[in-house]
Amino acid sequence: MAEEQQTDPELQDILSSNTTSLVLQPLPVGEPPVTLHCDAPLVRPRPFVPENFRREVFTNLHSLSHPGIRASVRMISERYVWPSMRADVTLWAGTCLQCQLAKVSRHTRSKLSGFVPPSARFEHVHIDLVGPLPPSEGFRYCFTCVDRFSKWPEQFPLVDISANTIVTASYSGWISWFGPPLG
Ligand SMILES: [Zn+2]
Repeated sequence: MAEEQQTDPELQDILSSNTTSLVLQPLPVGEPPVTLHCDAPLVRPRPFVPENFRREVFTNLHSLSHPGIRASVRMISERYVWPSMRADVTLWAGTCLQCQLAKVSRHTRSKLSGFVPPSARFEHVHIDLVGPLPPSEGFRYCFTCVDRFSKWPEQFPLVDISANTIVTASYSGWISWFGPPLG
């Protein structure tokens, strides 16, 4: 990395101009120490990473635990510096294959089970109870029947929803007119 720094055009640009906010200075890094151009130390010196090493630096750090994009940027920017780091790390972490495979957003979707349509009217009746409603002449419930084939609807007011009341309503209101359903 020290050798690459000697010839890295971006680093030479930064060193020869004072238009950038990045202040780099040669500092000893590692054991045995190597002189690397680093960001002026806050906590520890952050070496400037020449272009050819950036992907490697990313891979080494990101692969430890495959953190998300923001955590990857934070992790790498605490240790290294280069001008396009945020954009590079965002791209690389966002396209990391192992991260994609481990994402929790891969939910399994169950298929809806089949519901075979009836072949004739009054074979299959949907029934439902509505209520309790505000009483009207003593009735507080509504018993609804809909033929699945023709969609023919009937509804009957009920005083209560006991089994006896419902059977009586379906017998006198539906079966006596349309016959018993198959199911
Ligand atoms: Zn990853």
